[in-house]
Formats: sequence, C-alpha cells, structure tokens
Amino acid sequence: MTLLNSIPKVDKVLGWPGIKAIHGQCPRPLLLKAVRTVLAELRAEALCGDGSASGLSEQTVTGRILSAVAVARSFNLRKVVNGTGVVLHTNLGRSPLPESARQRLNDIVSGYTNLELDLQNGVRGSRYDHVEDILCELTGAEAALVVNNNAAAVLLALTSLASGKEVIVSRGELVEIGGSFRIPDLMRQSGAILREVGTTNRTHPGDYRNAVTVDTGLILKVHTSNFAIVGYTAEVSGQELVVIGKEFSLPVMVDAGSGNLVGIPDLPGFVEPTVRDLLREGPDILTFSGDKLLGGPQAGIIVGRRIFIDPLKKHPLLRAVRVDKLTLAALEATLHLYRDERQALQHVPTLRMLTVSPTELESRGKRLLRRLRKVLPTGVEVSLVAGFSQAGGGALPLLELPTTLLDVAHEGDSPQQLEKKLRGCKVPVLGRISKERYLLDLRTIPDEDVPHLVAALLSLADQN
Ligand SMILES: *Cc1c(COP(=O)(O)O)cnc(C)c1O
Repeated sequence: MTLLNSIPKVDKVLGWPGIKAIHGQCPRPLLLKAVRTVLAELRAEALCGDGSASGLSEQTVTGRILSAVAVARSFNLRKVVNGTGVVLHTNLGRSPLPESARQRLNDIVSGYTNLELDLQNGVRGSRYDHVEDILCELTGAEAALVVNNNAAAVLLALTSLASGKEVIVSRGELVEIGGSFRIPDLMRQSGAILREVGTTNRTHPGDYRNAVTVDTGLILKVHTSNFAIVGYTAEVSGQELVVIGKEFSLPVMVDAGSGNLVGIPDLPGFVEPTVRDLLREGPDILTFSGDKLLGGPQAGIIVGRRIFIDPLKKHPLLRAVRVDKLTLAALEATLHLYRDERQALQHVPTLRMLTVSPTELESRGKRLLRRLRKVLPTGVEVSLVAGFSQAGGGALPLLELPTTLLDVAHEGDSPQQLEKKLRGCKVPVLGRISKERYLLDLRTIPDEDVPHLVAALLSLADQN
C-alpha cells in the first residue's frame, strides 16, 4: 500500500516545474485530463504490482504526462505509407487524389464558392450542375447526378424508382461489399421488395420474364465486383435485360460498382467495360463509385436517361446524401483529367499504380535497395522478391499484378513484431506478412512516400 500512497495528488503534480512549463501552451482541461489519466494508470499499476517506486519519480511521471498531452493533441486521421500493394484499399482511404484535385481543394476550402449560385444570371443555381455536363461528355449519358457514395446512389435510385414495388435481381448478384453494403438490406431500406431469380451460378432470360408481375417496378443488374463465379455459369447481359425491360415497359438499372471511364491498356486480365460501354447497352440508369477505379474522391455517380434522373434531383432523400463543395471540387478536377485518356493514366494515382510496368517496379526496387543499404542500421536486412499485388476495393478480384516486394527483416523481431513497430511509426508504414516474411509492395509506395519509409526503417534502431 505504500506504493499506492506515494502516488502524488493532482494539485501537487500541477505545481511541478515540468508541468507548469506547459501551462501556457496547453488548454487547462486537456492538461488536467492527461494528469488524471496518468495518475489513474499509476494507481492501477501499483495495485497489480507491476509498478515500482522508482517509476513514480517526478521526472518519470512528468514525462508520461507530457507524452499523454502530445498524444491527445495529435491528429487521429493521419497519413500512412501503403505497402500492402492493394491499390484500392478501403481501410486506407481508397483512392489517393490526383495532384490537380489537391490544388483545386486548396483553392476552394478556405473561401466562398459559387456552389449554388448561377454566376451568369445571378440567380440561385444547383450544386449538382457543376459536374453534370462533363459526366455526360465522358460517359455519353443524357443526365447525371452525384451523391455521397455509390451506396447512397443505389439507395436513392431504388427509393425513387421502385419503393413499394418488386425489383428483380439475379441470385448470383446479391452481393455484399465490405460488410455494411448488402443488396438485400439496401433494398429493404428503400422500401422495394426483392424478387430473386435464377440460381447462384446460373440465371437465364426466362427467369426474369417469368418473375414479372403487375407489382414489378424495376430490373436491377449488380456488378459482382469483389468475387467471381467460375465454372458452370450463365448470366443475362445488360443488353438482354434491356430487351426484357422494353418488352414489359420496365426500367432497367445497373449498379456498376467501380465504374471506370477509360479502357486500360497494357493490363493483362483487365476486362472491365467502361461506363460508356455499359450505357451503350441501353440501361435507363447506372450508378458507380467516385473513389474506386475512377480514382477521385468518395462519391456516388448516377448517370442515365433524363426522365429517370430528374425525379432523383427533386427527391427528399437527395438532401440527406448530398455532396459538399470539397467533393465536387476534387471530382471536377479528376474528371477534367479524363478528357485526355493518356493524361488520366498518367495523373490519376489509382490508374498509374494499376498500370505501372513490372520492369519499372523492379528498377524502383533496385534504386530503393541501394539507397537503404547506405543508411540502414545493422540488424535491419532488406532484399527484393517478386510477387503479386491486387487491385482491391472490390474491383477486379481475379486480377493479379506482377510486382516487386521489399522483404524486410529486423534482428530479434518476428515479422509480427516488425509489423507492429512499423505501424507505430510517426508516419505509420503498413505492409503484409506472407509465409513468415514481412513484405512491402512497391506498387503502392510512390516516390514521395519513400522518405517516410526510410525514416520508419531507421527508427527501428532506436526502438530496441
Ligand atoms: C463498392 C460497391 C458499392 C458501394 O460503393 P461505395 O461507393 O463504397 O458506397 C456498391 N455496389 C457495388 C457493386 C460495389 O462494388
């Protein structure tokens, strides 16, 4: 109990010179909270017997309080180095934005904009107008609308087109995307009634035709973005669904998932049709994400025929899923790059990372290795190995991209311990462990991130 009794009181701690020194620079509630937290920790440690009297010195306790203050003042949302090789990593914020989008954000964020002002006529305008024309230009659509994300786009479209009616979907397309997006759940939320047809692996045109009743409101096709059914399979193409829709005067909607705007050359295994291709098949409405293959900010893009998009623009739900000026600024800048396909491939980071050649990755690896070998402390071993990266983000599940990996080992650390240490760095580095090796994929580490990676590896020497 003596150890417990020797833990100082809050007032006493506040009077210590090391603590007083930061009074002026730190809001008092923050300081008080840090002091109380650290004292509570000391009490808990004393009770479990893993504290020691020497751990209670003024200097040690002051140090702990100052680091608690520093932690509380640091940002929670931080830059990280993505060494996983997963290009569209939802946990890591999906698409890094193009440089031009960053510049547009810079121009827009701290001032006023014409978000809802028609500058030509000086009257109220619509925020949705800013990107509608360019979306139509790039996709061939008649009308377009942008909302918070693709999940919101699907919800809004289903609510507007099919609330209280039946929606026909193939059983092979009842997908779940990352846990919280499930087609059947979203359907329920929209008030539409799911009418499943076909089987998991095979659905035929007749399945759709037989399911149509007076209660049917819509035919929906969902892109199976994050998995593939292989083997004995059959699906009904968008084109065929449009024929069936016409036969029964029913609208046809496509949830395209990723939605890419360019044909990507030099990418073996890439067979994703562009949004323009999909629209040519004739669906009435089509939705896709802004931050998957498109490589822009989080957004849901709805394109299609005006008679179906106009009601969405007046729907009360739109207000709840609307985009802000930051999204619109970043999206507009990203879309401008797509006016020239070569520019898009070069300046949209997502596309650049997906299409970088294996030879380029290998020479990048060799450069990095030379650089690291000059500076790395003893005990840190690095080498290059060949492997594969993934597109991720629920896009292109079967695509395996040949890549170069940096194999890192640290004396005395298991790959798991090394992973934890690098994740705890000032700029956290995230890699993957495969066959008991810690690996960093160079595909998703742009040159700008290399200094952070070097700093993290150097810091391993201080952590022993
Ligand atoms: C990713 C995806 C969604 C969800 O899109 P968010 O932009 O993440 O809301 C919906 N449908 C499909 C088919 C998807 O691949």
